[in-house]
Parts: sequence; C-alpha cells; structure tokens
Amino acid sequence: MPPTFDPWHASRVVAEVAVATRASAASLAATRARRLVALLAHAAAHSPRYRRVLAGRDPATVRLEDLPVARKAELMGDFDGWVTDPALSLPALRRFVADPANIAADFLGRYTVWESSGSTGEPAIFVQDVQAMAVYDALEALRRPVVRPLDRLFDPWALSERIAFVGATDGHFASTVSVERLRRLQPGLAQRLVGMSFLQPLPALCAELDAFGPTVVATYPSAAVLLAEERQAGRLKAAPREICTGGETLSAAGRAFVGQAFGCPVVNSYGASEFLSLAFECPRGRLHLNSDWAILEAVDAHGQAVPPGKAGVTTLLTNLANHLQPLIRYDLGDRVTLLEEGCPCGSHLPGIEVQGRDDDTLCLAGAAGMAPVKVVPLAVSTVLEEEAGLFDFQLVQQGVHDLLLKTGGRGLQAARNLRKARAVLAAFLEGQGARGIRIHCRAGESADRGRSGKIRRVVSQPARARTRH
Ligand SMILES: [Zn+2]
Repeated sequence: MPPTFDPWHASRVVAEVAVATRASAASLAATRARRLVALLAHAAAHSPRYRRVLAGRDPATVRLEDLPVARKAELMGDFDGWVTDPALSLPALRRFVADPANIAADFLGRYTVWESSGSTGEPAIFVQDVQAMAVYDALEALRRPVVRPLDRLFDPWALSERIAFVGATDGHFASTVSVERLRRLQPGLAQRLVGMSFLQPLPALCAELDAFGPTVVATYPSAAVLLAEERQAGRLKAAPREICTGGETLSAAGRAFVGQAFGCPVVNSYGASEFLSLAFECPRGRLHLNSDWAILEAVDAHGQAVPPGKAGVTTLLTNLANHLQPLIRYDLGDRVTLLEEGCPCGSHLPGIEVQGRDDDTLCLAGAAGMAPVKVVPLAVSTVLEEEAGLFDFQLVQQGVHDLLLKTGGRGLQAARNLRKARAVLAAFLEGQGARGIRIHCRAGESADRGRSGKIRRVVSQPARARTRH
C-alpha cells in the first residue's frame, strides 16, 4: 500500500468531510477559519518564504486579504524557500516526474507528486502528503454526486462499474496520477479502472473503448464532445451510463450534446493541479465549492475582491489541506464567479460558476475520401509541451490544411524551438491521420487573448463559429 494512504488518517478525514457536507454556513466558516490559522502557523514556522511574509503578524488574527498574492513563477523560482520540508529538492522532483514509471509512485517514501501543464514557462510541481491526499480522497468519495441512485442502491461499492479515464496517460499530471494511485490502492480495481491516451488516433481510441466497454467515461469536455460525435456517427459503440467531465469549461450546449449522443447523464466537476477536487456538481446542476478545505477569492486586475455574483479577472486559491507547499492566495488564472444565493439542493457549500480554458478542437483534412481529423486542444498542448518543450505558444487553425504556430520568444533559440515543435507536431498530426498539413511558424509574437481574458493556446479561426458546442 502506498505510504500516501493511511487508513486511520483517511477514516478521520472521511468523518470530518461527511459532517461538513451537511453543515450550516456558520459551522463551515468556523472550520475554514480554524484550518486557515493552522495553515498560516505551519507556514510561518517551516517555510522560510512565509516566515518572512508573516513576520510580525499573528496567524490567529491576520486577515487573508492583507496577505500578498502568490504567483506560480515566483513560488517555483523560490522552491526551497517555499516548501515546508527541506528534504524536497526541485531538481530531484523534476527528475522524478520525467520518468513515466514513477506515475503514482511515492517520492521520498511519503509524498505524491504531479506536475501542471504550464501555460507559460516551466510546469509547476505539486507535492502532497498523506493529509492532503486523505482530504482529496474523502471529497471524491463523499461529494461526487450520485447520478444513478438505483445502480448505487444495488451496488454501493460500485463493484460492477468499469471506468475509462481518457486523458494524457503518459504525462505526470494530477488526473493521471490519481487514476494510477487508485489502481495501486485497490488491486481489484485495476481491471475495472483503465486509463486511455487521447494522443492516439481517434479510431484507435474508439476501438479501445469498445473493447473495454466502460460504464463510466471520465475525460475532458472537449474529448467528451469528440467521442459524442463518434457515437452519433456510429463509429463508437460503447454505451456508458455516465460521463464525468472536468479540467476545461463544459458549456450548456456541449453538455446537452454529449448527454444526447450517449443517452446518459453528464456530471461536471472543477479541479486544478493545485487542489484536486475544488467543486462538484449537485443534483440541481450547480457546482459547489468544497469551502471547508479550499478558499477561493474572485479578484479584479488589482487583486481587489469583486462582489459576489461577478466574475473577477482571476481567482486566488488558498489550499487548507496541503501544509507541505503552502498555497496562500495563489493566482489560479481561472475566472470564477462566487454565487451568493443558496441552492435548492440544501447544501451550504457555496455555489460557483467557472469560466476556465476556452480552447478549440482542431478539424484537419484527412486522407483523400476520409473524414476530417479532429484533435482535442489538450492533446496538442501535451505534445508541444512534453515532446517539444515548447510552453509559450499559440496554435491557430487557419484552414483545413493550414496551421500557424506562434511563440512569444525571439532569437536563435526561439527559432530552434519552433523548428523542433513543428517537426513534432507534424509527426503527431500525421499519426492522427491528418494529411497535407502546412504548419507556418512565427517567433516574437504573443498569443491573442480570448473572450475570457485568458490566453487561448489552440484556436480554430474558420471553424470556430460552426463546430463549437
Ligand atoms: Zn446544489
């Protein structure tokens, strides 16, 4: 059993989460305040960075909004000063995540590690101890909604479920690590919980899904839409009873389309590399923030709070579960609206709306006489980041044969990076079945911002209006 699972610890956290799920707003606020004091006290005692930040302030009385905003690049640039265990070394962690054999393996015998896909600069690395993992596990187990109560009544431990996770299965990402960790924790589950790579050509992915016959498919909204199109066209036979999505924005139209194509409920959740299970949907379709373990602040461009009901420019996360790598007012980059009104479902966990990533699916020419080839944005980003080491980019589809790859970098190095990225991307798209694709490259040009104000990394100009769901 991995050291990042401790049954005694887990059962205590499960009990706490169970109680908080039905708690009053006042009780949730008290729990949150107590955990914030504990986090700040631990950070002040063990993190050199936060010893400085909190110098002269009492963790028991300091107001969160008076503390500075923390940004990924600053924290990663001051890794040793940030973390609370001096045994954590960034070079050692980078070597660890570079080897796919280490996915869900424990680091230093006691920590779970994953990396985020970086929107700019090097990806961040997140390290979790047994306490943090117990919290994420308990939130997953107790707050993920039950959309098929009858199935659950006759099969409370979900023993008859066959779950397919479709994602970047070779990457050291939070979702992949979570799936692999579950497989290791519950040996019987390994046959029934399978990761499938969305980097393989779509017909191969459909064949793999059909061979497995999942009852639940968990994936990104863009991939779910793509699979729904395959299902509708008769190229995918698998008939899951539930689709779980997360990691990107799921539009109302996208949800309706996927639900209709598969004839089953679609359940969305909101998580991040920085906090796995930020919010789950309730039976009324509203996302409820796990506010007993995470604090979100919607803020404007100056870091000032925006009123409830309004979306900020970005959102600050304070993770109350992870004391190892204090995330205190951490700039998540997502735009979240905190809803003021209560929910008819009766939960006092606050409702939120998320405007997350807003990227497009590519639609490229296939071989003569064949259907167009569709590629989900996260697959493109994964290939460019993991195989070409290109993080600062925007890929614009200008036609079924034409792509424009831009990077903000300048000079010889940028030109070299772009050449490598072009070769890697061309080989990948060829493998997906695309034919006659021209990839134009431009260095020294920043990405355009999308409607959300976030940089969109994969943009389909001509197809956008027609194919968006
Ligand atoms: Zn609700």
